[in-house]
Amino acid sequence: MALVERADRIRALPPYPFAELDRKKAELIRHGVDVISLGIGDPDLPTPDHIIESLSIEARNPVHHQYPSYEGMLRFREAVAAWYKRRFGVTLDPQREVLSLIGSKEGLAHLPLALVNPGDGVLVPSPGYPVYRVASLFAGGVPYTLPLRRENGFLPDLSAVPVDVASKSKLLFINYPNNPTAAVAGLDFFEHAVEFARRHALLICHDAPYTEIYFDSDPPKSILELDGAKEVAIEFHSLSKTYNMTGWRIGFAVGNADAIAALGQVKTNVDSGVFEAVQCAGISALEGDQSCVEQMRRVYAERRAILIQGLENAGLRVSPCRASFYLWVEVPRGKTVEAFVNQLLDAGIVTTPGTGFGKEGDGYIRMAMTVSADRCREVVRRIQRLEF
Ligand SMILES: *Cc1c(COP(=O)(O)O)cnc(C)c1O
Repeated sequence: MALVERADRIRALPPYPFAELDRKKAELIRHGVDVISLGIGDPDLPTPDHIIESLSIEARNPVHHQYPSYEGMLRFREAVAAWYKRRFGVTLDPQREVLSLIGSKEGLAHLPLALVNPGDGVLVPSPGYPVYRVASLFAGGVPYTLPLRRENGFLPDLSAVPVDVASKSKLLFINYPNNPTAAVAGLDFFEHAVEFARRHALLICHDAPYTEIYFDSDPPKSILELDGAKEVAIEFHSLSKTYNMTGWRIGFAVGNADAIAALGQVKTNVDSGVFEAVQCAGISALEGDQSCVEQMRRVYAERRAILIQGLENAGLRVSPCRASFYLWVEVPRGKTVEAFVNQLLDAGIVTTPGTGFGKEGDGYIRMAMTVSADRCREVVRRIQRLEF
């Protein structure tokens, strides 16, 4: 027996879908192909200057060089609460209802450890961000798949969850604007979810990092806009996508105070918080001029228009994209998702097979609009030369 053998919980995992994509992409580049990667959801735009400026000033202040507080600087949590008030009209107590995170992925991954006992159910959308399922399994939870289907606007049909499954579940993950389908949920859906959570005494975990990337006059909602939602919901946000800060690792959870405290208790035992200078930069992001966010929306809107029109002209079907920086594109009839992804790869275009987000993602690919408008035009040119 080898000395170092992985634990069962690791061995049971499917391979991380994006690792394989990275490998294929590197191989193409090695062979001299001009590769355009629409594979990974990581903004190509830089962090706005005033945020970088704030970090560089605060990094020099020795006050920030020691361990930060576990729950985040109160000033950061106050900035989050004020932003929630301005953006969503939601009132939060910065002391009890806001927690800083080392990126929202960190908080999402730790939440089941705080709330799920071995054998408890966790309701997980598919296709969906893989972390929900894996984190549930790490906690010994039993994931129950909520299929997201086109005919339901990629919203889960909660009324289809069997009562015995719902009654032994502790947690319901939802994510709008949605990665990977780009769907947006309205308050009517959130209302169903809140009612469902009350009925079955479970917590809703709404993962909402894309609320600021939208393309019409009706900005996406927070589930906490509903009266009483705080009794059954926690919402995760991130500075990663809104301010092009994926590398900085800062996000936050807000909402139900008991859930926030439970997650905080896990965190005090596994990490020591976010570098305070980064939190100060986060305050600058949330409190500073928001025209950088407006400008980011314009950049994505231009790319979106080029890609949607080009793909549709090439005969492809693109799911409605009111928000997020993803396009959820149907695989042409008669092709498998693998064949389609490989056909695009041969044309030097990296996309993600929908099955990377769960088997219910079959029949689709995801394109991340994280390359320049010129590169989007090149994607369209290459795709229009292909036969489907
Ligand atoms: C990008 C993303 C996150 C994580 O963002 P962090 O950088 O960890 O804050 C969480 N959920 C979804 C659905 C995402 O796409």
